[in-house]
Amino acid sequence: MTLTGNMLIGRQAITGDREAIHAIDPATHLPLEPAYHGGSAEHVEQACALAWATFDSYRSTPLNARAEFLESIASEIEALGDELIDRAVAESGLPRPRIQGERGRTCQQLRTFARTVRAGEWLDVRVDTALPERQPLPRPDLRQRHIPLGPVAVFGASNFPLAFSVAGGDSASALAAGCPVIVKAHGAHPGTSELVGRAVARAVEKCGLPEGVFSLLYGSGREVGIALVTDPRIKAVGFTGSRSGGLALCQAAQARPEPIPVYAEMSSINPVLLFPAALQARAETLAQGFVASLTQGAGQFCTNPGLVIARQGPALDRFIDSASEQVRRSPAQTMLTPGIFAAYESGIGSLAEHAQTLATGVQGTSPNQCQAQLFVTKAQAFLTDPALQAEVFGAASLIVQCTSDEEVREVLEHLEGQLTATLHLDDEDLHSARNLMPTLERKAGRLLVNGWPTGVEVSDAMVHGGPFPATSDSRSTSVGTAAILRFLRPVCYQDFPDELLPASLKRGNPLHLRRLLDGQREA
Ligand code: NAP
Repeated sequence: MTLTGNMLIGRQAITGDREAIHAIDPATHLPLEPAYHGGSAEHVEQACALAWATFDSYRSTPLNARAEFLESIASEIEALGDELIDRAVAESGLPRPRIQGERGRTCQQLRTFARTVRAGEWLDVRVDTALPERQPLPRPDLRQRHIPLGPVAVFGASNFPLAFSVAGGDSASALAAGCPVIVKAHGAHPGTSELVGRAVARAVEKCGLPEGVFSLLYGSGREVGIALVTDPRIKAVGFTGSRSGGLALCQAAQARPEPIPVYAEMSSINPVLLFPAALQARAETLAQGFVASLTQGAGQFCTNPGLVIARQGPALDRFIDSASEQVRRSPAQTMLTPGIFAAYESGIGSLAEHAQTLATGVQGTSPNQCQAQLFVTKAQAFLTDPALQAEVFGAASLIVQCTSDEEVREVLEHLEGQLTATLHLDDEDLHSARNLMPTLERKAGRLLVNGWPTGVEVSDAMVHGGPFPATSDSRSTSVGTAAILRFLRPVCYQDFPDELLPASLKRGNPLHLRRLLDGQREA
């Protein structure tokens, strides 16, 4: 398939009229063809008009038809074969097996949402039947279900060119909810975006859905991105990226005459707590697991372990010696974009000024290569220096040495909101861990014991969210089937005749949904 450099606005392939965007192969620093010309406000207008015109028809598709659409997108992505893998590797610098794995995750994610759509639990049907004889007032017949919010703008993430981009988690959950999607492609992987975008467009056509269900735009965040977020027909936004980018979109969305929710996943340093008995028993094994997690994918994961907290002493010294040795031996890895590499260099420069450098990885031999870095500081310095809490996106981490359990708690209390918090503990540590649970629950969206935070399962129970700045809305998750809830709202139907009720609420329960009927969950 020849890449065209075109946007997809419904069924139409359109060349943008703004400056050309070229993907850069970060391994060679050379531009990749073709050029992707950015869109303008006019293109945003066209895509939004189509999405809005489609919304009522798409949201009323039977659950099975919507599920088949998601499965069809997965099949179309798989049918792209090596062309997709080759392009994504060239545009991201990520190793081939990682991109192959990410394609599998993307397709699995779409199929998991298809299962979720069919099961219909997300409709959250609640029925309170009429009580005409109730005193002092009768109760009306009340029926509630969830409906989709409307067209959703999705910003592709640089660090997951497949699983959190054009047909990634945000798009899959919005489409599953019944929302048309307009994607603003990330400028780092426009070719990958075009290939996947065309796969989605083919699925739209094969499934006989209206064309406005999906559009793909290129262009600058400040022009196309802001135009999308401020268009009155867009009703929600999904984003993964920098804190400044996420906040700009939140502010634009809040300043609209009709403010809308922005689900922005931004910045997290993912604290890892090493408790004394665990550290004493296996400092070297913990160091090995930590460095493997830290350096995976050049550290370009939102769940990268950027902070280690422990009581100082001989066991922590063993951990530091072992982790430092392994960081020194860590090979340099190509980062996603020259911009992300520059931000990493600046971030580690700042950490080096504010903390002590323990170890630096092997120096790179080609452009944009990340050298792993390990730093150490004292709890009192951490508590007084905000620079030590900034996310450094890449394979860098800071160890915070504490003198007491109380200081560990102070450091945790001082942290901003996080996607994850990890506890390494043995039985003897349970009491200390229990004391920290209230703090940990307030700080993070996912708490893990004796594991590592990188690697986020796509499942029903997963939470990939957390208090600000981990996300802009701590009530949500962007990974796992609960992500669908971000794009829904409840509607109650009072005293409706059966003929006028949607199928999910009809008295005979024709969709066989597990309803909450007069306070009891149906079997
Ligand atoms: P980014 O700069 O936030 O860009 C992500 C998307 O948001 C792009 O489409 C971008 O458009 C748009 N955008 C950015 N600023 C905007 C603004 N002020 N107004 C409107 N749209 C805006 O993220 P990135 O390019 O992926 O990486 C940059 C940094 O983000 C990294 O160094 C890292 O610190 C952080 N990051 C964090 C995570 C995480 O999971 N925590 C993931 C990825 C990146 P343009 O195409 O115009 O730039």
